[in-house]
Amino acid sequence: MLQIKNLQVSVEEKTILQGLNLDVGDGEIHVLMGPNGSGKSTLAQTLMGNPSYIVKDGVASFNGKNLLDMDPSQRSLEGIFLSFQYPSEVPGVKVESFLRLIYNKHKPEKLSPIKFRQLLKEKLSLLKLDESFTQRYLNDGFSGGEKKRMEMLQMLVLEPKLAILDEIDSGLDVDAIKVLAKVINYLKEKDEMSVLLITHYSRILKNIGVDKISVMKRGAIVQDGGRDLAEELEEHGYSN
Ligand code: ADP
Ligand code: MG
Repeated sequence: MLQIKNLQVSVEEKTILQGLNLDVGDGEIHVLMGPNGSGKSTLAQTLMGNPSYIVKDGVASFNGKNLLDMDPSQRSLEGIFLSFQYPSEVPGVKVESFLRLIYNKHKPEKLSPIKFRQLLKEKLSLLKLDESFTQRYLNDGFSGGEKKRMEMLQMLVLEPKLAILDEIDSGLDVDAIKVLAKVINYLKEKDEMSVLLITHYSRILKNIGVDKISVMKRGAIVQDGGRDLAEELEEHGYSN
């Protein structure tokens, strides 16, 4: 599904990604770990097409199409979703209106407000969110946990083919992590969604069926493995 070869990316004249190779297959849950500053978020931003990140060399393709040629909205329409570490607050725009707008943009079949509300109901219950949540303004005054749930709700509505989740688990308590794991497992089973899960913590991996773990250091993948690798890293850190 996602193929990255020799990706080199710079930000403000500084080379961050130094020839990164990474493949994510259909329905694969691929975890990306690595010390702070190793370039994990840079990779996520580059894949989504943030113009501050300049691709100097290499290729990235998504289902055989050249990703690097597409603008961010095309990438989203192709089915790539990126969760935001710091989502913006949009007073005046209700959660429900926002979600219906993006749903209707992404899906061939447009839904009326009433039909869309029905669709939301099921997703809300999965997240253990009350219906009143959708009547609030987007991220306005949301707690950290609520913002993360908002990201998850958006993901549930869009049903992406590939979700890139950048530290979506940081700052979440154990219960919220379980909800997150449930959402990921649900989308994986329902639509064969692939996930590139960027995380610092191995605790989320206990609840998710992880297929592969890659470790990033100084802008490149330095180690690949299965879920055992997470335990190893937990014990010995990234030092060696
Ligand atoms: P990670 O997510 O693994 O912690 P980042 O990708 O955020 O790492 O950062 C990698 C390096 O790139 C850091 O040295 C960081 O300072 C630099 N960097 C990332 N984004 C920017 C930016 N927008 N402007 C300047 N430097 C950046
Ligand atoms: Mg980061």
